[in-house]
Amino acid sequence: MSDNCLFCKIIAGEIPCDKVYEDDLVIAFRDIAPVAPQHILVVPKMHIVSTNDLNESNASVVSHIFVTARNLASELGFAENGYRIINNCGADGGQTVGHLHFHIIAGRHGGSMF
Ligand code: 5GP
Ligand code: ZN
Repeated sequence: MSDNCLFCKIIAGEIPCDKVYEDDLVIAFRDIAPVAPQHILVVPKMHIVSTNDLNESNASVVSHIFVTARNLASELGFAENGYRIINNCGADGGQTVGHLHFHIIAGRHGGSMF
């Protein structure tokens, strides 16, 4: 947990969220400002700031995030129609929350965010 990190506070239950999945490694919840009918954030519980901070010892969580994403797509019914998985890294990449996360966006072709 990192002080003053929004997503660490959501993970700790200090800030509420619309949670769709949680296990020991990740939490998934609905984006507060959805750009499509389905817009979910999958977030590692470990505080990793961005893709720039991934390395061989912490990056296994990313494969778990992708498996979580495909499971959610199946359970929530948009696997067949398809979806986008997006990670924004750093200021020029459009990252606004400094805790690694992956957007799952579905329910409308494309999405207007990116
Ligand atoms: P980024 O721009 O860093 O890739 O994505 C951050 C995302 O977090 C944005 O899509 C934004 O709408 C979402 N977000 C920001 N604050 C909150 C919050 O308090 N709760 C939830 N559920 N999502 C948030
Ligand atoms: Zn954090």
